Amino acid sequence: MQTPAPFGYERATSVDHAIELLTQLGPEARLVAGGHSLLPMMKLRLAQPEHVIDINPLAAELGTISVDGDAVVIGAMARHNDLLDSAVIAEHFPVLVDAEKVIADPIVRNRGTIGGSLCQADPAEDLSAALSALGATCTIRGSGGTRSVAVRELHTGPYETVVGPAEILTEIRVPIRDSAGSAYEKVERRVGDWAIAAAAVCVWMDGDTIADAGVGLAAVGAPHFVSPGAEAALRGNSPTDDVINAAADAARADANPTTDQRGPTEYKRHLAGELTARAIRRAVARAKGEAN
Ligand SMILES: Cc1cc2nc3c(=O)[nH]c(=O)nc-3n(C[C@H](O)[C@H](O)[C@H](O)COP(=O)(O)OP(=O)(O)OC[C@H]3O[C@@H](n4cnc5c(N)ncnc54)[C@H](O)[C@@H]3O)c2cc1C
Repeated sequence: MQTPAPFGYERATSVDHAIELLTQLGPEARLVAGGHSLLPMMKLRLAQPEHVIDINPLAAELGTISVDGDAVVIGAMARHNDLLDSAVIAEHFPVLVDAEKVIADPIVRNRGTIGGSLCQADPAEDLSAALSALGATCTIRGSGGTRSVAVRELHTGPYETVVGPAEILTEIRVPIRDSAGSAYEKVERRVGDWAIAAAAVCVWMDGDTIADAGVGLAAVGAPHFVSPGAEAALRGNSPTDDVINAAADAARADANPTTDQRGPTEYKRHLAGELTARAIRRAVARAKGEAN
């Protein structure tokens, strides 16, 4: 079936209006941003919202990327290409640039938004892993006000998040920290495809020691897209081969992949470790100014 079931269409003119419409139309109403996840699901009738609320008129309000004190604030309507083109993102968060370069194709990157990506909560979604590694937080707004949720607490399972039926994700705040380096490594079947496995690593150095680390994993069934074991293996240690191997082992242990058309469990688990090790090396080199 390639035709959506009938649905009503509304255009939100402000964030408050979107919340008003969601409240008024009830839980069978869905926001649509770029539509790259929702519309295919509607065509396949995996999603059958009674009403679709278009938030594209909010692109000016929610589409900016700016520095606010010690954080970069990314509006939920920022498109993948906005992140790729942003000098601020390139300066502070190479892991996001690495990830964006391998997300889908130019058509999807032109329209797909960061908010739609996070709220779709696909288990192979790349930005969730990268933003979890960076320690980013989401701002979620509803009629009762706003709340802040760590990206690593946003997802409650495949295609499920803590964003309520009458709430909207408005922005993502990514902390800027000193002596940072980050990198993303992904293996896909062909260019533009979803990950077979991917790893995001952020390190914050104190001299030769990794003072703090964030390790995200995509597509390998790691709860909340993170590897706490790999983070613990890195924290407080120098990035020697032994430490990197221990972190890779921990990432393999934190992965819980399933066999599917993208590959068998053992291959994906192997990739989780190998990609984590590669990303650690590149993140450390970037923190030391030894790599781009
Ligand atoms: C061919 C193809 C290849 C792809 N490859 C990759 C890939 O390699 N890696 C990857 O990570 N992704 C990939 N994607 C996914 C793509 O990145 C997402 O489809 C897209 O970014 C989703 O954003 P959107 O704005 O289009 O969301 P929409 O489809 O508009 O919305 C998705 C969901 O999020 C909700 N939503 C949207 N915005 C908000 C908001 N602000 N607040 C609350 N809820 C909201 C909607 O109600 C809906 O449930 C691919 C997609 C396609 C079509």
